[in-house]
Parts: sequence; C-alpha cells; structure tokens
Amino acid sequence: MRGDGSGDVLSRDFKDTPYWWEAAPPEDTSSQLLPDEVDVAIVGSGYTGLCSALELADNGAACVVLEAGPLGAGASTRSGAMVTGGQKFVVSGTVRGIDASRQARVLEDAGESLRMMQERVDKYQLDADYVRYGRVILAHVPKHAARLAHWAELLRDHAGSTVSLLSRSELTSEIGGRRYHGGLLIEDYGGLHPAKYHRALREAARGKGAILASHARVLAIAPDRTGFLVRTRRGVVRARHVVMGTNGYTDGTVPYLQRRTVPVTAYVVATEPMPPGMAETLIPRGRMLSDTQRDLYWIRLSPDGTRMIFGAGPRIFETDAHTAARDLHRMMYGVWPELRPVRIEFCWTGYIGMTADHMPHMGVHDGIHYAIGCNGSGVAMMSYLGYQTARKLLGKQNRSCAFDSDVFPAPPFYYNGKPWFVPVVAGWYRLRDGVDRAMAGL
Ligand SMILES: Cc1cc2nc3c(=O)[nH]c(=O)nc-3n(C[C@H](O)[C@H](O)[C@H](O)COP(=O)(O)OP(=O)(O)OC[C@H]3O[C@@H](n4cnc5c(N)ncnc54)[C@H](O)[C@@H]3O)c2cc1C
Repeated sequence: MRGDGSGDVLSRDFKDTPYWWEAAPPEDTSSQLLPDEVDVAIVGSGYTGLCSALELADNGAACVVLEAGPLGAGASTRSGAMVTGGQKFVVSGTVRGIDASRQARVLEDAGESLRMMQERVDKYQLDADYVRYGRVILAHVPKHAARLAHWAELLRDHAGSTVSLLSRSELTSEIGGRRYHGGLLIEDYGGLHPAKYHRALREAARGKGAILASHARVLAIAPDRTGFLVRTRRGVVRARHVVMGTNGYTDGTVPYLQRRTVPVTAYVVATEPMPPGMAETLIPRGRMLSDTQRDLYWIRLSPDGTRMIFGAGPRIFETDAHTAARDLHRMMYGVWPELRPVRIEFCWTGYIGMTADHMPHMGVHDGIHYAIGCNGSGVAMMSYLGYQTARKLLGKQNRSCAFDSDVFPAPPFYYNGKPWFVPVVAGWYRLRDGVDRAMAGL
C-alpha cells in the first residue's frame, strides 16, 4: 500500500519482467550440444513446441526444440493464463461469419482443447496451479447483455461447456465494485500459473527424451534428400520433419508464416499484495473475469490469491512498462476504486499472434508443419494444436482437427512483420466502446 506519501502508483520494487518469472524463470540450456540428426526439429519453446515435443518423445520420436532465447522467452510465460475453450471465438464474433457445420466443428475442437488440457495435467502430473474456478464474461453496456444468451447457447451446445446467465443482482456475488449489466458464467474454465505450467512441460518432455535447446535461433530451413537442414545460431541439425511453433514471435525464417501472423503487443500488471480481505471483496469466488468491451481487458487473482493481475490489449501507441503500468492502474481502479492506493509491482508485455480470420491455424507449407496464431487465447488451444501436430506426424490422429486446413489467409497490406494498422484498429475499438457507453447513458 502507498504509505510513504510519494503518490506514485509504482511500487519501490517495481519490475518490468513478468510476475510469473519470480516462481519459474525462463531457462538457459545453451551449454547443451545440439544433436546432429533428429526425427523432428521444433522451432519455438512455447506451449505449442513443448506439447508437440512431449507427445513425439512419449511415442519414441527423437526431437529437439530450438528456441531463439531462453526456454520460455515467448508469450507462454507472460500470459494471463486464463484457461478457456472457445469463448474467444464467440465473444470476438469469429464464428459468426462461418457456416453452421464449421462453426460446430471449431467450437467442438475448442472444447476438446480444454478437456485435453485436464487430461495432460493429470497424466503427466503437471505442477501448474491449474484450478477451474470458472470465468464470468461481464456485459459493460445493457445491449451486450442480450448477446450473452446466444453465446451461452453456442458454448453449451457445441463446446460442451457448463454455462449460466447471471442477472445484475446475481453479479454482486461475483464482483464487488463496478456495476455490470449481466454476466455469462462458464464453470469449466479456470486459470493456472503459466510459467510453472511451462516448467512442468519442460520437465515432462525432457523426461521422455526430448532435447530442449535455448539460444539456438533458427536462421534458415532448407530441404535436403531426407528432410530438412535446419541452420541455427549454434549449428546445423538434420531433421526429417520441422514444426514451427513461433506464434506472435514469428520472424522471417518462413516468410509464408510471417506474412500471416501479426504480432500485437499485450500488457499486463500485477499489484503488490493487497490488504487482507480485499481479494475476497473484489472477486468473492476467485473467478477469472473479462468484459464485453472491444478495448479488451481481463482480470484475475494470482494463484495464491494475494495480488490482482490485470491485462489489456494493444494501446494506441506502443509504450514502455512504466507508462503502461500507470495506464493499466487507471483502468483497474476504474473497475474497483478500492485498488487506487494499491501499487503496481510488475508490468510486462508479450506478443499475441493474430491472424486475418481470427482463427488459429495448423497445417503444412512446403513440407514444413506449423501450429500458429492464438489470437490471444492459446493456453489450452496452442497446447492442443502442438499435441495435434505431433499426433499427425506420428500418424495417430483419430480425426482431423478443425483448425487443420490449407486455407490460411494473409491480412491485406501486411508484408514485413510490422503491423502499421494496429493503432488504427485500437483507436477504432476505443471509439466504438465510447459510443456504446454514450448511447447507454453511462
Ligand atoms: C500478455 C498476454 C496475455 C495472454 N493471456 C492469455 C490468457 O489469459 N489465456 C490464454 O489462453 N492465452 C493468453 N495469451 C496467449 C497465450 O499466451 C499464447 O497463445 C501461447 O502462450 C502461445 O504459445 P506458443 O507456443 O504458440 O508461442 P510462444 O509461447 O510465444 O513461443 C514462441 C517462441 O518461438 C520463439 N521463436 C520465434 N522465432 C524463432 C526462431 N527463428 N528460432 C527459434 N525460436 C524462435 C520465440 O522466441 C518464442 O519463445 C496471452 C498472451 C499474451 C502475450
């Protein structure tokens, strides 16, 4: 709490690294030699890469994960770690534009990603603080409350979710402070500790024989007689197959993927520990929360229940951690005035991999496999697509995955990995949220 009269919202111990890294930092394995030859070389050490490696290694395939930075440098250890199974597709309107049978398959596979998440956590005894507290999506203007019933129906009928609608008065037992206009409770969703989940996956994959190589940025991938020559900063690996799991960090190694994956910066803050009893007042049931604004934000408690963790999508202009921390602090106490005196101890960023159709994609291009494009919701989904890619390579997929398709559209006027249009879209979203509020007299 601010007791020194400085008036600053940043804690004296402020850090611009993820809160999650305090418990499980990214790992340096640069002293380990690279193998000369493997069955599968996986590029990227996030959940996609690790879940792919775990499934491959557990089925006897020789594989190496090649990571540009330390293991876990990307989004996987930076996220809000809210675990979902399809809400993003309905809330963002992604499934609105597709035909009914594809809509059903997309949501069914999203539900499957959530079930697989639980199965893997149980099977490999992953120490990840995974708890299914439930999630509430809050209507920020009255007209959005009407949409919740339709979303509930889609998630119940196709993703197999357990859902219920909450009235304004019922919301008082879910969220103290700001009044919302209705809510959708999805009971099966939850949250975990993203860096612990990452560490547990590393340990499980290594335990099955996968090699995890940090500081081995892949510079080029060239076909050769029996597969590919993968040239990295630390040497060359010969691989029968290559899997790209680079998501929002996709560089120009495979230009086809860079052209289709737009990196968008997301921001997160974690407060210092809150005074005793405050967490229970603000989020009485400890659920994951988000609302229906286009300028998205989401809120959760730290797994130990002591800190508020608050995340937001892109700002109109990219900004440094200090400025972002103040901005998000303001947004946070807009929801809960009680949090105004509570300081921010951590603020960090990460890249989300957006795609033109707002869908994740798995597939093969020029013989190179990929699973990419989480669109901001990838804890369960990218774990699932990494796993599905491995099953495909092993010839053990029970059925094809809804996200496995040759059709992967590229955004128009986007060529060099620089998303010039993000400030325009972010500004437009804010404007439309403002209009919605004004029309509702709020
Ligand atoms: C701030 C933030 C909040 C989020 N909140 C949530 C949430 O609450 N719930 C949710 O479901 N999802 C959330 N997400 C999304 C989720 O974190 C991602 O979908 C998921 O972690 C992506 O995993 P990945 O393995 O595909 O990619 P990443 O974890 O990003 O890993 C990609 C890796 O590829 C490496 N790489 C790139 N190029 C190369 C190269 N040439 N050679 C070697 N390595 C390379 C990068 O260094 C990086 O480590 C959030 C994301 C962010 C950024």
